[in-house]
Amino acid sequence: MPTDPVLVVHGGAWAMPDDMVEAHLHGVRNALSNGWRVLERGGGALDAVEAAVVIMEDDETFDAGRGSFLNRDGKVQLDALIMDGATLRAGGVGCVERVRNPVRAARKILSESPHVYFVGEGAEQFAAEHGVELCRNEELIIPREVERLREYQREAKAPAPGSEMFAPEISHDTVGAVALDRAGNIAAATSTGGTLNKAPGRLGDSSLIGCGCYADNMSAAVSTTGWGEPIMKLVLAKWTADRVAAGNLPEWAAQEAMNYLKQRLNGHGGIIVLNALGQFGIAHNTPRMAWALKTAHKEESGIERSDT
Ligand code: ASP
Repeated sequence: MPTDPVLVVHGGAWAMPDDMVEAHLHGVRNALSNGWRVLERGGGALDAVEAAVVIMEDDETFDAGRGSFLNRDGKVQLDALIMDGATLRAGGVGCVERVRNPVRAARKILSESPHVYFVGEGAEQFAAEHGVELCRNEELIIPREVERLREYQREAKAPAPGSEMFAPEISHDTVGAVALDRAGNIAAATSTGGTLNKAPGRLGDSSLIGCGCYADNMSAAVSTTGWGEPIMKLVLAKWTADRVAAGNLPEWAAQEAMNYLKQRLNGHGGIIVLNALGQFGIAHNTPRMAWALKTAHKEESGIERSDT
């Protein structure tokens, strides 16, 4: 029996200032409509999450693709993962510097490689060999981020009293999507430029399977955003999916994941969760998170959410 499709996207969780709200809402809504077009015409959940994430990678508002945060050396280094809940096939890339849409490279790995994860130059080579055009790193860098890094490094040398390196005020604009298609399959994708001023070669949670992204028809599709190190340590996407598999509602599991992140490691972030029945959860323990969702019956978006 065909299922009604569902699509949920996020565009980062942090203390987003008022003057950035509109751009974030615009971005997540655009991503939603692009992904929904795929689901509406009977396309698969994998194609839908890829289509949604590509739009946010192309949107300089977000920390994904062009316009991402710069690492300590002033370079963009991107990570992405995409996962198919029907087969558990996954594709991930880490620390790529010459790929405009890392989720496309990740998708090629999922579809055309026996491996799951590629990093650095090997990932770029794989992408190029499979039809993903490479670019120069400079093409991914925008003046706003050059200035942001300069300011951050100046502040790091002489920190203002009480300033915290990973305070929620520091933006977490990673993007992600979870989808359920008409065939009843779910998928998830997450893409990021990582954290500001990260050490070269540093990977966060976003592209690590089970940490920033996971999908299994038997449990849930999950995408996270936030401070990557605590999320990784808790393997949070899989932790959440396991709670759904144990019979909990995605909205409860999403909220519990955020509580766990806060209580166990004082971490902060946001999460979207969707199961194969079309039940979903959206939660964050940061002041705001950009999100958008669409089902056969409703379409909503916002910058705050609490499902419980
Ligand atoms: N989770 C990402 C990372 O640590 C950052 C983010 O969500 O903004 O790489």
